[in-house]
Amino acid sequence: MVRRGLASWVAGRTVAEVQVLHPRAVRRQPGGAADFAARLTGATFGAAQRRGKYLWVPLADSGFSMIGHLGMSGQLLVQDPSVPDETHLRVRLRFTDEGRELRFVDQRTFGGLAIEEAEPDDPEATPVSIAHIARDPLDPRFDDGVFIAALRAKRTTVKRALLDQTLISGVGNIYADESLWRAKLHYERPTATLTRPQAALLLQHARDVMNAALAVGGTSFDSLYVNVNGESGYFSRDLDAYGREGEPCRRCGTAIRRAAWMNRSSYFCPHCQRAPR
Ligand SMILES: [Zn+2]
Repeated sequence: MVRRGLASWVAGRTVAEVQVLHPRAVRRQPGGAADFAARLTGATFGAAQRRGKYLWVPLADSGFSMIGHLGMSGQLLVQDPSVPDETHLRVRLRFTDEGRELRFVDQRTFGGLAIEEAEPDDPEATPVSIAHIARDPLDPRFDDGVFIAALRAKRTTVKRALLDQTLISGVGNIYADESLWRAKLHYERPTATLTRPQAALLLQHARDVMNAALAVGGTSFDSLYVNVNGESGYFSRDLDAYGREGEPCRRCGTAIRRAAWMNRSSYFCPHCQRAPR
């Protein structure tokens, strides 16, 4: 949804000028800011693409793409040139049509932009470094059958699998807990014990959770907000499990529990989501 918005703003436009206002934002570019600007100036953008927390824009007829690592706080904004600079503006692209600018804003500058070689013969010009990352389940090219088979073949537990970007992307800690609660699955359930219908249902719940989050986040009219970390814009009142320790399960009334899990937390209903034996 946001990708389509960004795509309609940048596709077919030619970069006239590149301003790097903070060198850290282009630290992944081997030649630094000068190299980044030289490779981008004069390039024409194709349609923006997204996979997991990465977003990229192909540079037409070049074999390269501009990749955006948005990190935790990065945003790509399409702004009218008259809009004052954001406090944490790091990179500005101006276009030859003198229309809306593309601005990379990042408070903590964990994210950044870089020009990277694309997979050969790939119509989406996927950057080589992220070609191994799976599509997210809202991507029209996500293959349900392939995912369900891979999930059940994997010797892991179900929450680890949901956070494994080689299997599925776009599902973070919050979305995983919400999907598992809806599917009535414990986070430690071995994926090999899931039936095909259980795996299919879990996937459907993950999609529903992501769509619900998109519906409350997403875009606004004059400032296109793109944040693909997958966990923003989700209001706590919409959550059924995550962050609800001690509160009653909305299905059965049992108090939701929180357990330490891989340096994070897992929230679950001990009644609806029975631990595997
Ligand atoms: Zn319950």
